Amino acid sequence: MILPVEVRERLQIEHGIYVIEACNKCGSLIGPVRWTRAGEPGTWCSAICRDGVEAVAAREHRQSGRPRKYESNADRQRAYRRSRLRPLRNTLAAV
Ligand SMILES: [Zn+2]
Repeated sequence: MILPVEVRERLQIEHGIYVIEACNKCGSLIGPVRWTRAGEPGTWCSAICRDGVEAVAAREHRQSGRPRKYESNADRQRAYRRSRLRPLRNTLAAV
């Protein structure tokens, strides 16, 4: 939300800061970085204030890029070692 002119002037005089907006949800003052939503009015101080904790957690959980073949590096190494195993030769039987 845009702060009224009186509030802006009071903040500048009392605290020496120039801000024009506050978060729509929590009301904290917003500096040069703010979160908005395209086509919708409103500004928020963080993604958590704008979208909510659950939405942010779901977004962080989702991974980008192609799906991984193995769950972890340990799984990948295990598969590699399995593929590199040569059949054991019985040297006693060959003689
Ligand atoms: Zn906020």
